Amino acid sequence: MKVFKFGGASVSSSEAVRSSVNILKMYPGNKVLVISAMGKTTNALEMVARKYFNQDPEVWTVFQEVKSYHEGIISELWGESTELPEIEKMFGLLSNRIKGERSLNFDYEYDQIVAFGELISTQIVSLYFNSIGLKNRWVDVRNCLKTDDQYREANINWELSERLAKRLFTFEPDDLYITQGFIGGTLTNQTTTLGREGSDYTAAILANLLDAEEVSIWKNVPGILNADPDFFSNTQKLDELSYKEAIELSYSGAKVIHPKTIKPLQNKNIPLFVKSFLEPEKPGTVIHAVEHPLDLVPVIIVKKNMALITLTPNDFSFISINNVSDVFSLFAKYRLKVGLIQQSAIDLSIAFDEPEQGIDVLIRQLQEKFEVKYNTDLDLVTIRYYTPESVAQISAGRTIYVEQKSRRTARMLLK
Ligand code: ASP
Ligand code: MG
Repeated sequence: MKVFKFGGASVSSSEAVRSSVNILKMYPGNKVLVISAMGKTTNALEMVARKYFNQDPEVWTVFQEVKSYHEGIISELWGESTELPEIEKMFGLLSNRIKGERSLNFDYEYDQIVAFGELISTQIVSLYFNSIGLKNRWVDVRNCLKTDDQYREANINWELSERLAKRLFTFEPDDLYITQGFIGGTLTNQTTTLGREGSDYTAAILANLLDAEEVSIWKNVPGILNADPDFFSNTQKLDELSYKEAIELSYSGAKVIHPKTIKPLQNKNIPLFVKSFLEPEKPGTVIHAVEHPLDLVPVIIVKKNMALITLTPNDFSFISINNVSDVFSLFAKYRLKVGLIQQSAIDLSIAFDEPEQGIDVLIRQLQEKFEVKYNTDLDLVTIRYYTPESVAQISAGRTIYVEQKSRRTARMLLK
């Protein structure tokens, strides 16, 4: 059995949906296809969730945009003014949500709304494939991917999910199942999400639970590149990576795969292919168990929107392990994602993803014990397999706030 993951771009238009058929036909045998929301739907639904929560009547404008976008794709696939009852029902459920009374828990409301992107995209693709004779079964993944209730970043209940997944995906010969990435369900059947860009992770979880032979993630880039082509010229495709290397790269901010994707695959030694839906016959990048160290070119990963906090104890004492422990408890409490830490005798510097809602409360709490310096809008640049030239090139003309180097990796926090 093979697991396929089609990202938002690979189902963002009727042409994209049509050409995805050819990819599946290249692979005979049992398949599970995990799909993300179409195009930029998740961003739009995030806006719906926010406006709904703030009781902004403009919510209906965005709702209508999402609906029209999908209706456009449907009419291109089936012909002008086709109505699909399954999709009408989904939009009916979503609009009832928006009309209904909201709770006080934004993360909960967010998941209930944003999950519709994947529920709708999978329905459309499944119905279209069946209509052209590519037989498949639509699965509501919330019935088998069971999570806790940490909304917007739910954790998988692995044992229960394994039992349920094995019951749900029975695989008659040549079966194709189509299901949602990114979403799950609690024990009481509330919808959860696994974190933005989480569909890769879903593919890896299902592959692990169902003992897949391989996973392939289909994107609009030829594989994993050594730098983001939007910002760098002369990028090179990496033909293969070890699991460990892939974790390092994705954790440092390489956007090609979600950082949580690798572990479930590594644990069962399942190879992961990152391939282009524009050139499906090309080999892409494979992530697998490699024994020998790979001789790689410098790999540059830029993570934007980082914030830096530098703390100095108010009482002129040194940074103690108790200070550090207090500070990290606060970071855990506010669910901040730390990217880099540096400590000296009297300073503790922590770089983290700048949260949308700001961190005023955190700063006030830290100020009880520390002098707090705070910078935002920084880039965290990681260079794996750095060379003196690559470091010089990246940092030229920019202020370096923090710099760290190990044998293989250079990291810089830059303005
Ligand atoms: N649709 C979700 C997102 O855009 C999940 C994903 O694409 O992986 O974040
Ligand atoms: Mg997406």
